Amino acid sequence: MPEERVLSPDINFIRDLKKVGGETLKKCYQCATCSVVCPMSPDDRPFPRKEMIMAQMGLKESLLADPDIWYCHNCNDCSKYCPRGARPGDVLSALRAKFINENAIPSFMAKIVRNPILALAIPFVVLFLTLAATGNLHIPEGKIVYSHFFPIDVIEKLFIPLVGLAGITYIVSLLRFWGKLKTLNGTNYQKGFGDAFVETIVEFLKHTKFTKCETNADRKNGHMLVFYGFVGLFITTCWITFYYYVMKIHSPISLGDPMKWFANISAISLLVGILAIIGSRMKDKGINTKTSSFDWTFIIMVLLLAVTGILTELTRLAGIRQIAYPMYFVHLMFVFYIIVYFPYSKLAHMGYRALAITYYKMVGKDVM
Ligand code: SF4
Ligand code: SF4
Repeated sequence: MPEERVLSPDINFIRDLKKVGGETLKKCYQCATCSVVCPMSPDDRPFPRKEMIMAQMGLKESLLADPDIWYCHNCNDCSKYCPRGARPGDVLSALRAKFINENAIPSFMAKIVRNPILALAIPFVVLFLTLAATGNLHIPEGKIVYSHFFPIDVIEKLFIPLVGLAGITYIVSLLRFWGKLKTLNGTNYQKGFGDAFVETIVEFLKHTKFTKCETNADRKNGHMLVFYGFVGLFITTCWITFYYYVMKIHSPISLGDPMKWFANISAISLLVGILAIIGSRMKDKGINTKTSSFDWTFIIMVLLLAVTGILTELTRLAGIRQIAYPMYFVHLMFVFYIIVYFPYSKLAHMGYRALAITYYKMVGKDVM
């Protein structure tokens, strides 16, 4: 006899899901075309039809422990072929946004990030008050040196604790998700965590799973450029720290320095990648799909991060002090947004997706 289960629908969850991009979920009449055409969907646990049913029924707890919503790569082949226009790709995207909100610690941070004006007002006030408190609330005279405006040690004292806190809360959120995953299949593992995780990271670096998408195939290059842009900027930050503390080389660093080359290439990679993603999302691909405000907010923030970073350097090189220093201030606001809010923004998807794929590799259910 099949096991009996009591289902507990959460009506508010359905309502919220519709608000964050899943407004078409009720159109689904469960024909399963989406699961047939989805290039990521395995035979023994097809998706996204089952997620559409669970979403219609408001089965929040089951959906928030479902690795398939992270296994989905948003290629939208399902939405293209759905005969009802239920846009399952967008519903899964909305589920991911909802998951990030629900799993966030502390939950009020997720609410702040959902409000872009408030989310940017906070770094503005924090940076402004820091400048005022350190007596730097003015445009310095002479050659443009950003550390004369915002001293390195002040930036470190401000950012290191905030980034540390964000990192800890993100790790706790990931562990919570991992705990849910482990209850799905007991300890019946075919592969250890280490091996599965390394395989997943190699796939991430190559963007292997993106190559399976048909409708959104053009997203791969943009996503890859953004990914490597962020990796490059992270390496640049470590490189500058090494210069500053070990080599005692202080800014401004010459344009011919390899670190500068690396930083500039990373920034251009980020800019070109995010423009390619915007172009891909705006292109008419003959399918009924919609980018959620959660996704758009993050895309715009990354674009502004890259643009203000490049303008900060160009205005410094041009010697326009009155624009360069305010531009640097604005750039720091976007740096704050991206790194302090990352557990609550779209960027959080990296860790959850990595864990979902690692988990499927461990239980022998990875489709590639
Ligand atoms: S989302 Fe569309 S394709 Fe998928 S089961 Fe529902 S109606 Fe069918
Ligand atoms: S968006 Fe792509 S990966 Fe996600 S369920 Fe649809 S077809 Fe599958």
